[in-house]
Amino acid sequence: MARIECESHGLQGTEAMCFHVQSAALNDRAIQFSAVCGDDFFLPCVWLCNECKMVWDGITTEEAKEEYLGTVKMMCGRCFDEWKDKNLKMLVNNEDLCAT
Ligand SMILES: [Zn+2]
Ligand SMILES: [Zn+2]
Repeated sequence: MARIECESHGLQGTEAMCFHVQSAALNDRAIQFSAVCGDDFFLPCVWLCNECKMVWDGITTEEAKEEYLGTVKMMCGRCFDEWKDKNLKMLVNNEDLCAT
């Protein structure tokens, strides 16, 4: 797994995610997302918002998959985990949140 030097947490493993999830995490916003996990890939799991998940599900070739995965964002795993917990609470408190 790739490593990242985080300002708050030091050297950490990274999490991979789509641009929308990253921007929600960086701005402390809530978003609905799910994990897409590969078996033989250098990224164990990628967190995708609903929109990107639909795009992902529509991909059929390995080339297109790799190309798509080349565009995913990385951030510190600890920062991401902290936001993930908050995100869950925000989602519970805001059931009809639209994921923009
Ligand atoms: Zn997305
Ligand atoms: Zn961090």
